[in-house]
This record gives sequence, C-alpha cells and structure tokens, in this order.
Amino acid sequence: MFRLICKLREIPSIWLYFLSLVLIILVGIPFSKDFLEEQAIAGAIKTTQIAFGSMPLKPEQEQFVKSIADEIGIANKLIIRKMNHNALAQFGYHNAFAYNPQLYSLFPIESVSFLFISEGFFEDLSLEEQRFLIGHEMIHIKHGHLNYLIMCLLLFFAILVFFAWQIRKRIKLIVQCWVSYRYQIYVMRMVTFVLLCVCNIGTSGADFAYRRYIEKEADCVSMQLLNSYDGCMKLTERWHKECKLALHNPYFGLTSDHPSCAERQAYCLELQNQFNQKDLI
Ligand SMILES: [Zn+2]
Repeated sequence: MFRLICKLREIPSIWLYFLSLVLIILVGIPFSKDFLEEQAIAGAIKTTQIAFGSMPLKPEQEQFVKSIADEIGIANKLIIRKMNHNALAQFGYHNAFAYNPQLYSLFPIESVSFLFISEGFFEDLSLEEQRFLIGHEMIHIKHGHLNYLIMCLLLFFAILVFFAWQIRKRIKLIVQCWVSYRYQIYVMRMVTFVLLCVCNIGTSGADFAYRRYIEKEADCVSMQLLNSYDGCMKLTERWHKECKLALHNPYFGLTSDHPSCAERQAYCLELQNQFNQKDLI
C-alpha cells in the first residue's frame, strides 16, 4: 500500500486529475444510464424535428395514420409531423417518409420513429393512395430498413478499400519493373485515384441496390397487409403524370434508388392477380 502511494505521488498531478475524472465517468455511467439515454433520445428527437418539421397534424389525420400503424403492427412510439419547407423540397409534394432518429447518424434509437407528411397529402390524394403510401412507410419502420444502413455502407467501403490496397501493392510491383523511376510516382497516384473511384462507385452501387430492394419489399408487404393494390396503381400513375417521375429508370435501373413506376405497377398487378385467384379458390 505504501509503495502504491509512493508510486501515485510520482505521477504528475494533471494525470491524476484526468485519471480521477475517467474513474468518475466510468462509475457514473451505470448509475445514470437511464438519464443519459433519455437525454440522447430527447436530443435526437429535437434535431430530427429541426431538420424535417415540428408541426403536428390535425387530430383526425393523426388518428387515421395511427389506425394504419396498428393494422401493420407498429409497436414503438410514433411521432407524426408535417414536412417543413426543406423536407418538402427534398421529398416532394404528395409524399410521406419514415425516419428513425440516430445518434451521430450511426446508432439508431429504435424506440422512437417519425413519419413526416407533405403538404397536399390529405387534401389531394385519395384514401386508397394515402393507405398505400402510409402502409409502405410503416413497413420501413417495422422492418428497421434504414437503421444500420450508414454503418453497413461504411463497413462495406472499408472492406473495398482494404482489397483495393492489396491490389495497389501488386500493381506497384509491376510499375517498379516496367515504368522508369521518374514516372513511377505519377502512375501510382493515378492508380490510387482509380482504385478509390472504384471503391466509391461500388459503395454507391450497393447503396442503390439495397434501397431498391427495401422499396420493393415495403410496397409488396404493405399491399398484401392492407389490400392497397389500387392505391399503388393510382399513386404510381399520379407520380408519373403529375410529378413527371420516369416510367422506366435509365441504365437498367442500376443508378436509381427506387423501382420505376412501371416496375411498381408490374409487381402490384402480379400480387393483385394472386390475391384475386386466392379469393376465387
Ligand atoms: Zn420507401
């Protein structure tokens, strides 16, 4: 014990101060975990509302949305707000989007979800269209589609960079054999640039492919649960005619994060036919 005290006296006081601070924090976290969690949730909710909108809907509109959430089986707390101007510019008229607040844009707070509704949604869309679109967003919430997307994409990018680095090492050996010493640095800079571009394109491609997949899943599951096939057909028709959304996505859809209107209508009709045939049996 005496030796320990002597050792401690040798440590500069500033380090002892930091050490005690870390100890206090480490001991304090388990006791104040609930408090910290509450603070984190409150902070994330506030930031989300500042970003996308904080105005509540009319009580009857909120009730309508919550009745669809109940049909889908949403268990966590749902906060429904009107889109602000920034969100409206980003997501457009006649639209709705679900959002799970995240800490540092990485760690989802799964107990709370937001649904933002645009101007004109309740006024201009038919009941069938509203049910389809709200149901679609509820499936995103229920399945936690976007909860870990950024984290997974960062991990995917890191894996690609690792492989690119291995390829770069092999290319460097070839360059050292075949290119004169004077130009080697320029060639390697070009190689690094190209490999980083490939990593970026690969990550964007994976992001688009995943987003197309979850869009189709949200469409199909919500249509089957809510029997909202007609809503899907009418809304995609409206998006094509009024909002000028493309009927077919360019480049085989590889650069799009949503299925095209034609794709949506095709799988909607297929599911509706299956549903009708079941009814006949
Ligand atoms: Zn969606």
